[in-house]
Amino acid sequence: MDMPARSGRLEGQVAIVTGASRGIGLAIARALAAEGADLALMATDAGRLEAALGQMAGLPGRRIAIALDVTDREACRAAVAQVLDRLGRLDALVNNAGIHIARGFLEHEPADFQRLLDVNLFGVIHMTQAVLPTMLEHGYGRIVNLASTAGRWGSRNQSGYNISKHAVLGLTRCVALETAARGVTVNAICPGFVDTDMLDGIKRDYGRMGIDAEAAIGSLLAHRVPLGRALRVDELTGIAVHLASPESSAMTGQALTVDGGMLTA
Ligand code: NAP
Repeated sequence: MDMPARSGRLEGQVAIVTGASRGIGLAIARALAAEGADLALMATDAGRLEAALGQMAGLPGRRIAIALDVTDREACRAAVAQVLDRLGRLDALVNNAGIHIARGFLEHEPADFQRLLDVNLFGVIHMTQAVLPTMLEHGYGRIVNLASTAGRWGSRNQSGYNISKHAVLGLTRCVALETAARGVTVNAICPGFVDTDMLDGIKRDYGRMGIDAEAAIGSLLAHRVPLGRALRVDELTGIAVHLASPESSAMTGQALTVDGGMLTA
């Protein structure tokens, strides 16, 4: 992985990134570190978190890794307390941890809907409620939620994922209204197809449904995405750093789409 560009504009700041062990979260964590931020990396798998820390060797700043499941409200609160204790302050939270299940609506079990909402929605709620008292007390905070183009319009074979991401956008707008006057901004990024383990998982789920995944995704990318390809993770980091930094002070409650020009019709 190439070293991200450095400016030092986040020196002295502390950010939490959930789902930072791989994919989009790891890329955002690397970009925030390159800007000088101290970081708390969170994900479920301690081994993958350690590997992520290893991949960030050579970047400036202090980093800690905390293994947690964002569906566990108490674990989220304890993790935030640990960040304040070990890193001394908290300026930004990137709610990136997420899961996907590709399945037809009739095949979705109640447990599928529940799991998707537990991780993708309640994970964001728990982490946001855990950080907000500190941010409001200090009169400054940046919350960045990874939603999806699936949160902006309907999509086939992912109704559980889709509604979880619509809910994240609603949550983003509501919390933004309640915190805007107190220095805390809340915004969402809506990526289209991004080349990560999640996209590989979608392809495997398609295979189980009897869909030719390479052909289906290839056709979507060719006909619905003017860019003509899935995004690289580094194509999301600039906007994430902007939203996590002081310079985005006037922007809140927004959902920014980064999708290679994906067509909705
Ligand atoms: P990914 O490669 O599958 O990585 C997911 C990350 O989330 C991992 O670090 C994983 O940790 C963590 N995670 C999953 N469940 C968790 C839980 N219960 N508690 C804590 N951490 C958990 O996913 P990605 O593609 O980078 O996606 C990142 C975000 O972008 C997600 O919110 C996703 O919905 C969104 N997004 C992705 C795409 C895409 O095409 N890839 C498009 C639109 C939006 P472990 O390593 O411990 O499992």
